[in-house]
Amino acid sequence: MAQEIKVPDIGDFDAVEIIEVLVAEGDTVEKEQALITLESDKATLEVPAPVAGKITELKVAEGDSVSEGDVIAMVEAAEAEEESEAEADKPDPKADDEKDNDKAKSEDKPDKKADEKRGADRPAANTDDSTVEPKASTPASDDHDYDCDVLVLGSGPGGYTAAFRAADMGLNVTLVERHSVLGGVCLNVGCIPSKALLHSAKVIEDAANMASHGVTFGKPEIDLAKLLDYKQSVIDQLTGGLKSMASKRQVNVVTGTGTFSDDHTLALEGNDDTDQITFNKAIICVGSEPVMLPGWPEDERIWTSAEALSPDELPESLLVVGGGIIGCEIANVYAAHGTDVDVVEMTDALIPGADKDLIKPLTKRMKARCGNIWVNTKVTGLEAGDKLTASFEGKDAPESKQYDRVLVAVGRKPNGAKIGADAAGVEVNERGFIPVDKQCRTNVEHIFAIGDVSGEPQLAHRATHQGKVAAECCAGEKAAFDAKVIPSVVYTDPEVAWTGVTENQAKAEGIEYTKSAFPWAANGRAIGLDATDGNTKLIFGTDGRIIGAGAVGPGAGDLIAETCLAIEMGADAHDIGLTIHPHPTLAETVGMAAEAEAGTLTDLYIPKKKK
Ligand SMILES: Cc1cc2nc3c(=O)[nH]c(=O)nc-3n(C[C@H](O)[C@H](O)[C@H](O)COP(=O)(O)OP(=O)(O)OC[C@H]3O[C@@H](n4cnc5c(N)ncnc54)[C@H](O)[C@@H]3O)c2cc1C
Repeated sequence: MAQEIKVPDIGDFDAVEIIEVLVAEGDTVEKEQALITLESDKATLEVPAPVAGKITELKVAEGDSVSEGDVIAMVEAAEAEEESEAEADKPDPKADDEKDNDKAKSEDKPDKKADEKRGADRPAANTDDSTVEPKASTPASDDHDYDCDVLVLGSGPGGYTAAFRAADMGLNVTLVERHSVLGGVCLNVGCIPSKALLHSAKVIEDAANMASHGVTFGKPEIDLAKLLDYKQSVIDQLTGGLKSMASKRQVNVVTGTGTFSDDHTLALEGNDDTDQITFNKAIICVGSEPVMLPGWPEDERIWTSAEALSPDELPESLLVVGGGIIGCEIANVYAAHGTDVDVVEMTDALIPGADKDLIKPLTKRMKARCGNIWVNTKVTGLEAGDKLTASFEGKDAPESKQYDRVLVAVGRKPNGAKIGADAAGVEVNERGFIPVDKQCRTNVEHIFAIGDVSGEPQLAHRATHQGKVAAECCAGEKAAFDAKVIPSVVYTDPEVAWTGVTENQAKAEGIEYTKSAFPWAANGRAIGLDATDGNTKLIFGTDGRIIGAGAVGPGAGDLIAETCLAIEMGADAHDIGLTIHPHPTLAETVGMAAEAEAGTLTDLYIPKKKK
């Protein structure tokens, strides 16, 4: 017979919002499986199923408010469950002993990481070994008289890192870059300029928010030319540093656009002195470029991220097409500097892929600072006239609306198909990626590929780490790209960061996990910073080791770094919780989320589950 599942004792909270319903009618649930997620202004908590069985009726929906005793669902308990319920109600004297044993086990666990050779038996984080078939090629040879030991094509974070590491290991390196400055997308039109502008956006917002602290500033006056000068000075400082480091390392920097003519020769265009360079080994790091939408007019008011980071003026209105990381970051820059910004995203949430609980505070703030955030919405066309007229298909969006500028931020495609790779025998897949193995080797043994052109995620820190691996392999070392995790950060206000297994991924792939979270509303530093909508969560595998983490709030990107190390080192909740974190810091939320998992948390009152 179906029985009611009610909201249990949730402390002092009343009328708490349901932010996610995790089951559907007809689902079979395990005992303790989370049914709904509640969010008060102080905490996010999941309500678990008290028994295993089949959900026959759901009595609540996302957005409802519930209090203790409200019925969530009707469940037909599994037979075994019904029989054993009486048994389960008895206190379990062994439970505490087992907890102690678990802790002891985790303290005794062998240091697997230390036993492993670097990358020796780990799968690559994001490469598909099976697709890389070695092909016949003229092998690298130390006897042949090539122009250089290692040719590095492209000077982004992957390329300059590879070039510098190879030079530091005594190899004769030529670095070819089509632009006159080094640094690639990251330094010139990507990570660095966007963060320089996001800094001023954050200061503007922080200043406005200070009014509630009793400190009021006037309306900001924006001198765009000066703002862009500042951004450029940041870029110049970094690219200048690269130039000087390349020279000190005696890396031969050559300007020109390279395409392969065979597996030991690069043809060069746009260089008056040289039209080809021969190499013993090569590292391809030619990056990626923005995807533009087909059939749209050619109009300089339609921007890629590069133009959006060097605007001719601050437009009155901007449509951002694509609510991913780049779209959201740039939307926040413009909204803070006074532009009326709409964001349109095809999927059901901003930052597709990230867990919804992490994105929620960002979405809430972006809704307040932007004109409209339309999810589940497509831009079906764009016409260029006096203004740019976009037409939409989606529940909340208008049929059409006019804008001064439109930013297309729908993804980046790799440049693999643009470098004559076939002449060198290097395989490029249909999407333009160059498949590589754990050593970042392409199908041609002496040619490597790294960074955005070699796969996803397309992030600078992946490129730099791969750059070192490829350079070390060129020098004959047994290196491999064996990262367990590659963190992602959205540098908005609030920042959102995650690493390793996400809950979305765990659910999609059937990975068993437990989760613990620490709401920033209970962290002294966060309260002082007025960042109480922040949250830190940790995800643990069935062996008790941390496998993923996420955070939202100021500095979440810095905070997540500790969890990356914890995952790499195979830490469990006790390892993290027993590590003393400085007080008062936001980093304490990592320690306390771990304490919540370990059952030792005292900084929050978590009602005991009823047995
Ligand atoms: C707006 C924006 C913000 C971003 N923010 C972040 C962030 O915060 N964090 C992060 O990790 N990542 C960020 N990224 C992504 C990051 O910039 C890339 O992942 C990173 O730059 C990839 O490095 P790479 O070395 O593979 O290639 P790139 O940086 O793309 O460099 C490739 C280089 O190769 C050169 N090249 C290409 N073809 C040729 C050729 N035929 N001959 C000679 N030279 C050639 C190009 O000119 C370029 O300089 C951002 C990207 C954008 C667009």
